[in-house]
Amino acid sequence: MSSSTKSASAKPSPTARYRPETRLVHSGTIRSEFGETSEAMFLTQGYVYDTAELCEARFKGEDPGYIYSRYSNPTIAMFERRMIELEGAEAGRSTATGMAAVTTAILAPLKAGDHVVAAKAMFGSCRYVVEDLLPRYGIASTLVDGLDLDQWQRAVRPNTKSFFLESPTNPTLDVLDISAIADIAHAGGARLIVDNVFATPIWQSPLTLGADVVVYSATKHIDGQGRCLGGMILSSEAFVAEHLHNFMRQTGPSLSPFNAWVLLKGLETLAVRVRAQTDTAAKVADALVQHPKVSRLIYPGREDHPQAALVKKQMRAGSTLVGFEVKGGKAAAFRTLNGLRLARISNNLGDAKSLVTHPATTTHQRLSPEARTELGISDGFIRFSAGLEHADDLIEDLHAGLERA
Ligand SMILES: *Cc1c(COP(=O)(O)O)cnc(C)c1O
Repeated sequence: MSSSTKSASAKPSPTARYRPETRLVHSGTIRSEFGETSEAMFLTQGYVYDTAELCEARFKGEDPGYIYSRYSNPTIAMFERRMIELEGAEAGRSTATGMAAVTTAILAPLKAGDHVVAAKAMFGSCRYVVEDLLPRYGIASTLVDGLDLDQWQRAVRPNTKSFFLESPTNPTLDVLDISAIADIAHAGGARLIVDNVFATPIWQSPLTLGADVVVYSATKHIDGQGRCLGGMILSSEAFVAEHLHNFMRQTGPSLSPFNAWVLLKGLETLAVRVRAQTDTAAKVADALVQHPKVSRLIYPGREDHPQAALVKKQMRAGSTLVGFEVKGGKAAAFRTLNGLRLARISNNLGDAKSLVTHPATTTHQRLSPEARTELGISDGFIRFSAGLEHADDLIEDLHAGLERA
C-alpha cells in the first residue's frame, strides 16, 4: 500500500488528465500487494503500527499513513479521490449521507453572528438546516426566490458568509444562474455552496461556473441502485484545511468504508446510467407534455423550459427528472400514482428503477400550503425520476396511470 495516498489531497494524479468516463473507472484506485482488479473493501476501524515511534509520527502528521477510520480509510480515500477528479476539484471529503454533507458544508465555516442566504426552492431537509437549525445557533438566514437576482443582491449583509442553492431545484426543476449568483456572493465577500444532486456531476460542474463548494447526496445517482447512503463535499484545498478537516475529525459524520466501496462501484457506471436515464426522461417529457390530463410539464431539456437558454449555457444536458402537474389536484395525482405498475411510489430519485414522488404529501409536506404554492408545488404535482427501463414501457405505464386520473 502506497503511503502517499492517505487522504484526498490535491497531489497531481496520473488519471486527472483523462476524460470523465475514464476517470469514473480509474481515478483513485489504490492496489494492495495482491493486485486485485476491483477495489478492495477495507472494513477496518483502525490501524496498527510497527513501532511506537511510527505511531507518534502519524499522530504528529509527519507520516502520512492512516490513523482511524473516522479520519480516513483506504476505501474511503479511493471514493474521495475519484469524486475529486470527476468534479475537477482541488480537494473534498465524503460523509455518511447527503444531509451530513450539506450540514457540514454550511455549518463548519460559520459562527454565531454570521448570515446565510439561500434559495427557497430546495430539498426539505436542506431547508430545515437553513431556516430552523442555523438561527438556533445565532446564524441568521434569509430565503430568496432563487430565480430573482435582485433578491440575492438585496439579501446581502456585511456579515453574509455563505450562499446556498440547488439547481435544478427540487422538485420544480427551475434552473438558477450559478455564475451570476456566484458573482453576487463574491462581491459581498461570501462563498457559494451548490447542491448539485439534481444535475449530477455528469451534466453540470458548478466549480467551473464560479461556485466555491459543491455538495452531493451520493445516495442518488452516484449509488444509483438503491443500496446505500453517502455524501460528498468538493472544494478548494484551503476550504478543506480551514473548515472541514478538524470539524469532521472531531464531530464524525464519516462515510462507512462498506458504503464507500458500493459508491466506488456506482461511479464506474455513473456516466452511462445518467445518459440513459436522461434520454428516457426526455422521451417521457415529450410523451406527456400534450396529454389531456397534464396541465403543466417541466423538463430542463425542453425548449419550453422557462430557463431554456440558461440550461444550454450552464448544463451539458437536461435531467433524469421530469415534473408534471395532473389536472384534479391531490386525488387525481394519487389515482395516477396508484395506477402505475412499473414506476414505483418513492421519495428517492436517481435510481435504476423509475420512481414517482408526490412532493406535497412527502418531501415537502412540512412546508405550509402557502410556502408550497409559492414554490409551485401544487397538490397535483408529480416528480418522475427516470430509471433504466425501456422508455416505451415507462410511457405506457404513465399513460395507464393518467387514464385513472
Ligand atoms: C436526497 C437529497 C439530499 C439529502 O441526501 P441524503 O443522502 O438523503 O441525506 C440533499 N439534497 C438533495 C437535492 C437531495 O435530493
